[in-house]
Amino acid sequence: TVSSSVDLLPEVKEFLSRDVHAGFVGGKSMTASNGDTFDVLNPATGEKIATVASLQPDDVAKAVDAAEEAFRNSGWATLQPNERGALLHRLADAVEAKKSIIGQIEALDAGKILGQAEGDVQNFADTMRYFVDLAQHVNYRNVLAVKGHEAWVARHPWGPCGFIIPWNFPFLLAGWNLSPALAAGNTTILKPAEDTPLSSLYLAELAKEVGIPDGVINVIPGYGHIAGAALTDNPKLKRMSFTGSPEVGRLVAEACGRNLTPVKCELGGKGAAVVFDDVDVADTAEKLVNAITFHTGQVCCDATRWLINKNIYDEFVDECVTRLKSVQVGNPLDENAQMGPVVSAKQKERVLSYLEKGVSGGAKMVLEGGAAEVAGCDSGFYVKPALLAGTLDNIAAREEIFGPVAYLAPFESEEEAVQMANSTDYGLANSVWSADLNRCARVAEAFQSGNGWINAHNVFAHGVPYGGVNKSGMGGGVLSPETLNDYLRPISIVRPL
Ligand code: NAD
Repeated sequence: TVSSSVDLLPEVKEFLSRDVHAGFVGGKSMTASNGDTFDVLNPATGEKIATVASLQPDDVAKAVDAAEEAFRNSGWATLQPNERGALLHRLADAVEAKKSIIGQIEALDAGKILGQAEGDVQNFADTMRYFVDLAQHVNYRNVLAVKGHEAWVARHPWGPCGFIIPWNFPFLLAGWNLSPALAAGNTTILKPAEDTPLSSLYLAELAKEVGIPDGVINVIPGYGHIAGAALTDNPKLKRMSFTGSPEVGRLVAEACGRNLTPVKCELGGKGAAVVFDDVDVADTAEKLVNAITFHTGQVCCDATRWLINKNIYDEFVDECVTRLKSVQVGNPLDENAQMGPVVSAKQKERVLSYLEKGVSGGAKMVLEGGAAEVAGCDSGFYVKPALLAGTLDNIAAREEIFGPVAYLAPFESEEEAVQMANSTDYGLANSVWSADLNRCARVAEAFQSGNGWINAHNVFAHGVPYGGVNKSGMGGGVLSPETLNDYLRPISIVRPL
């Protein structure tokens, strides 16, 4: 009954037909010690698509032990970088070869437009290749010039590393997180979000198929407060990386602090786009509309506060309203859909409640959002794009909504625009839009955020560090040579000659 122009592949049907999707620990599947499971729904239809093992603290402890055992005894950590690289390249190639299968699993699980889901799968493969190739060029024995001594810094992998990821980019973030750790020779335990565990579980099996030793990649599906908390609390972890909300990031950082486990946190955002009056209004409006509707606005680095020079404010708003009204909301497997559902009923409720709270706090509803109907998908979690306008002290301008909602405000001067962009506790990504590139550079460098884009939003490249500051994160970000270094333990060696 669902309007879908794509048939599910036989491999996807087979994968989804399992009674229970178990975790993957030490190369074997693992159900929960107490038998608990949770349901995974297709956000497009609200229908259950899988039953997944809800791993318990004792199961998580076994996963960390399996990673530790693999670090000590599987030979993974002592392979030469090129030998390890050959295996990881096989994994990247296998992921790429299975792009349509993983893409469909991801589209069904996360409610992601199929083309975007496949893009995430490709990005996984590209990220793994980037870090594997980078790892061939690390100076693993860096000789230092010390008078009368022989001295060097040696770099080794740390051991078992834990990863907790959110539901908005499940497969892509598995790639961003695991790749540098694996390329450096560590072993890993990945806890996917409870809404979207399926592509990670598929990955674990693929890793075994291509010959990655058992215990090098362990995947532990489960609830955050149970499996996630047990992972973060485990003193055997050598490093922890968390991607998700600031609220949970704080809990993770506290737990890691108790164990003195180094922790990297990539958290939420409330990015601004600063639009000056010398832009091509139609072109800029189109790009910002594309950014806010991409994955239904569930993107941490989105521009959710649009700060517009007052000279073009009305014209800009009109352009945006016209474009947003024509966005086709639909089933992610429907080729005509431009924007899919949000991930869950809870997330839909969150988006709708922020619209209400924004308006009751004094914001003007410039484009009415609300629940969206999609033919054949009555129980799906669909919302319409919305625009609010007002002052930046409004709750909808301060807090992360995580939906296709932008908050508009006019500005008069460059100084005012910078001050408005920085008037947030978050600091992930902002953009500046102007024909004057000197002004763009000035404004971009004045942003209090980890990333600043010029005449674009949401641009990523391997080699360019990506990460947040302030409430948006700590620990140096991801995707760059520094990230690989984070997964190498330095030891300084000195001997008098
Ligand atoms: P969330 O913080 O609720 O959950 C993230 C992960 O943490 C999930 O796997 C969850 O199970 C787990 N978790 C929950 N409670 C836990 C606990 N007590 N201990 C350990 N783990 C726990 O976030 P979400 O709703 O899944 O994702 C949305 C958030 O992620 C947004 O704030 C978004 O901006 C952020 N995000 C940031 C980036 C980035 O790179 N900066 C990327 C994607 C998403």
